[in-house]
Amino acid sequence: MSDAIETPARVTESFGRRVIVETTDGARMPAELFGKRLTCVCGDEVTIRAPSQSSGDVAKVVSVAPRRSLFARTNSRGRTEPLAANLSLIIVIIAPNPEPDLFIADRYLAGAALAGISGALIVNKSELPGAEDPTFQARVQDYERAGYPVLRLSAKNEPTVAPVRELLVNQSAMLVGQSGVGKSTLTNRLAPESERATRSLSDSTGEGRHTTVSTALFRLSSGGELIDSPGVRDYAPPPVEDAMVQVGWPEILKLAPECKFNNCLHLREPGCAVLAALAQKTLSARRYESYKRLLNIMRGLAPEYERRR
Ligand code: GDP
Ligand code: ZN
Repeated sequence: MSDAIETPARVTESFGRRVIVETTDGARMPAELFGKRLTCVCGDEVTIRAPSQSSGDVAKVVSVAPRRSLFARTNSRGRTEPLAANLSLIIVIIAPNPEPDLFIADRYLAGAALAGISGALIVNKSELPGAEDPTFQARVQDYERAGYPVLRLSAKNEPTVAPVRELLVNQSAMLVGQSGVGKSTLTNRLAPESERATRSLSDSTGEGRHTTVSTALFRLSSGGELIDSPGVRDYAPPPVEDAMVQVGWPEILKLAPECKFNNCLHLREPGCAVLAALAQKTLSARRYESYKRLLNIMRGLAPEYERRR
């Protein structure tokens, strides 16, 4: 008789074929993917087969449940690489310092929207004088006008972080941002166990955190969960058709029904409501530029897209 009992679990950290899973009672343990065809990422809901008592084996992931969402990127080789499963929210963090690369922020928000995931913006270090800079403020307002929730705070100042906790309740959220914006500071504040827990869990798989860039899931005592992705700095979404790119720009998507042509890409087409809004300065020229840039990137990836079809 076999003592292999199958139970549901959640992948909280992934190192290729080896993962950390959390069972419904909250216990976390290492596990291995069973069979070569199976793949999973942080956030996946899986079924595990418990190790047999005698063998001292590690648990096996035997199946992966259908995903509510899959957040992925195009890697440097032009391949689609899954980053996290079942996310409901992607939060981009920017700060007045280091100087924000908003095209990356836009691409993250676009990647989220294309994967059916909500987006939000955190402006950290908002106590710095640079946060008062009119250009910086106008850039941030572009996101508010596009309809994104925008939170201004200082990760170093506890009371200003409360709205983030509220935003995260009932969400499975990933924080992304350039190096130096305060992502770790905020993550450690939201999930104080994250630093130590990640390190010890990484060690239990035999791969130290210093050698492995992993994505890890933390539950917040205030509700919701946070997925920390130390490896993701630059970002481009997986390839999509031209007409889909605008899904990443809510303010453009909202205008599109008023365009003369229903397949308008808002580039040079006559009767384009987006170009009209641009001329009237009711649409951010920078955000529009960013839309065009992603459209170009997607066209460059077209062969990859064709291959997948
Ligand atoms: P990460 O690279 O995004 O993880 O950024 P870190 O959390 O390591 O923070 C980068 C630097 O910004 C550190 O020196 C932090 O102390 C600092 N920092 C983080 N949050 C704030 C803030 O709210 N205000 C200020 N002035 N500095 C901050
Ligand atoms: Zn148009």
